Amino acid sequence: MKLIDFSNDLVWQQLRQSMGATDDGAFDLYDPLRHLSHQELRQLASSGIALAASQLLVLKDRTLALKNRRIWLLREDGNGAGQWHVAACDQVNQWRHSNQLVRVSTVTAMPPLKDGEAPKICMACLAEVGYQGIDSRRIRRVDFAEQVSREFRLEAFFREFPQQWGE
Ligand SMILES: [Zn+2]
Repeated sequence: MKLIDFSNDLVWQQLRQSMGATDDGAFDLYDPLRHLSHQELRQLASSGIALAASQLLVLKDRTLALKNRRIWLLREDGNGAGQWHVAACDQVNQWRHSNQLVRVSTVTAMPPLKDGEAPKICMACLAEVGYQGIDSRRIRRVDFAEQVSREFRLEAFFREFPQQWGE
């Protein structure tokens, strides 16, 4: 039996282009357990998604992901707020194991001020991933930690640890 070769078919080519596939078979089938839906992606990029911390993945580099996106998170109830997290530090691990409700987001603008106080990046998270040579010994130096916290930008962090990978 001779199989029909569709690869030069115009309709097929247009379909492939509209799916963003450059080659035959270059696209993944959508799997709702592993891939975020368009709605979830929109939520992550706007108000964020509230979920149990146990649903988060810890990637090999110790950053955090929701399905196929790296995210940052805040504790949902505001307790332990004042800080947002980008990795599996001790605090985040504790939340993961006790199923705390957290809010995750991919927004790279800094999180909004709360009660007039700007929440800060968690230093333990930065030490966890070794961001810009930061380690658990150096973050104990108050002047160093304050400088890192002042200069930290989520945008720069996610350039080093892309929100979207391997697709
Ligand atoms: Zn942390």
